[in-house]
Amino acid sequence: MEMPNYRKLAYERPSIDAFRECAMKTRLRLMTSKDIEIIESALADFQKQLSRFYTAEALCRIRHDQNTANPFYLNELSYFEESEPAVSELSAAVYSMLLSSEINESLREKFGEMLFRKALTRKETVSGEVIEYLTQESELGNKYSQELSEASIHFDGKKYNLSMMEPFLESSDREERRLAHEAVSIYYSQNLELFNGIFDDLVKTRTSIAQKLNYPNFVSLGYKRMERYDYTPEMVAEFRDNVVRYIVPLTVEIRRLQSERLGVNDLKYYDMPVMFSGGNPKPIIEKTAYHLSASKMFKSIFEKDPSFFDVLQTYGFTDLVSRKGKSTGGYCSTLLDYGVPFIFMNASGTSDDVATLIHESGHAYAAIRSADCSPFIECLSPTLETCEIHSTAMEYLSYPYMELFFGDKASVYRDLHLTMALLFIPYGCMVDEFQHIVYGNPSLSLNDRHNVWKDLEKKYQPYLDYDGNVFYESGAAWIKKGHIFTDPFYYIDYCLAQVVALQIWDISRSQPQKAFTIYDQLCLEGGNKMFLELLEKVGLESPFSVGAIKRSAYRAAEFLAL
Ligand code: ZN
Repeated sequence: MEMPNYRKLAYERPSIDAFRECAMKTRLRLMTSKDIEIIESALADFQKQLSRFYTAEALCRIRHDQNTANPFYLNELSYFEESEPAVSELSAAVYSMLLSSEINESLREKFGEMLFRKALTRKETVSGEVIEYLTQESELGNKYSQELSEASIHFDGKKYNLSMMEPFLESSDREERRLAHEAVSIYYSQNLELFNGIFDDLVKTRTSIAQKLNYPNFVSLGYKRMERYDYTPEMVAEFRDNVVRYIVPLTVEIRRLQSERLGVNDLKYYDMPVMFSGGNPKPIIEKTAYHLSASKMFKSIFEKDPSFFDVLQTYGFTDLVSRKGKSTGGYCSTLLDYGVPFIFMNASGTSDDVATLIHESGHAYAAIRSADCSPFIECLSPTLETCEIHSTAMEYLSYPYMELFFGDKASVYRDLHLTMALLFIPYGCMVDEFQHIVYGNPSLSLNDRHNVWKDLEKKYQPYLDYDGNVFYESGAAWIKKGHIFTDPFYYIDYCLAQVVALQIWDISRSQPQKAFTIYDQLCLEGGNKMFLELLEKVGLESPFSVGAIKRSAYRAAEFLAL
């Protein structure tokens, strides 16, 4: 297929009536046919409709995020919010026919086990009874995101959005960064009631959905939704315990060394992002020129000219630099009809930009690499912890090229990046445990939830000192974490992925070619297997084994001379 130009892509609202008609027709064909070829072609027709819907939704979301003030795409987004639950329900109705088909066994052989697992998941997570609640859930999530994208922070006599505050938050001038952190906390505390209210509604809504679908609470439904076929909440709890045992002590040492380097003996919360006395290394190139360094780097890593990144860049499938009116955050979203990913981010001139650019490019590469791995869009990409390996491991594979972004500060950047990875793992576990507690005890009061967070901070970030900041000391910092609102139980995936990606990093130090081959193979496999099966296939250790965590922690500590 010829490469499309993003700017020329026409957006058209997909008709939900046409979708419903196709779904019903497909369902009927699946119900009445025992001929594999007829079933295959019925599914192919349905796949086309599904792909069209998701492509339009992704395009709408990207265009909205590029300019949140555009009323057209904002309005279209609410259309998707309203129709998404119906699409899920109709899909569940179609796929449930596969499960009950008389020739079920031959279909399994033909289409693979994964499609049937997905069919079962849909059946167990969606039903007509909960449609209304699902719509409500997505509206609440969007309300939170929209609120944040419109956030206006008063700082130093000017107004900034949250992305634009990033450079000040890690300023090498301690007083400036203290004031910046305070300004951000003022924004959140002024909106505390609003955010607490949105989250409270989300907990109630999600709990109702779980109960209507006969789950004891939202935890078990959350795991089903994340398609965790091969691990349990108990295994995740053990993983978190191992993190507390083997990684938290390293982070305490990291903070001790940090305070030594910064020459302060009272490391405060606003010092957290700054690891070096002169400030963190900053890219030596303008943020508007990142793509040029990225282009050189990906050409070398993949030994291809132009690289996948060049192609995305040339055809407009990237929007990298922060500007007013653009939504916050970074992501990679695939436009399924075209098989092309889009990289969205908010470069603001910090070292974090480089990690984000490479992270999202890793997702993009995997999407391109696995575009033909299955005829079913549901099986193109694996579950999310594996997707996060695609992106995180790319960050490590890019280490030898960091001179392109940081010049003679490249080795300082590598230290910083690995340090941040170690600091992140306990934080991610904390976000995960918070959700387990909250959804396991849905009647907790707002105040109880804040106390839960406070206790978790003591366990996972024992070095934290909020310097009397009332907002943070009340245990409210979790409201800054969007995933808690919009993507329940997603967060641990980053931690699991990090522990696996660290293995790839370790291999890359002595055998770069081998590390690249493992990475490439993992991307190529797409979503045809489950998480732990994929790891086994490419020769990586499960993050649930205590050995994997210990070894990753040990190697990283050695590299950082902790
Ligand atoms: Zn990611």
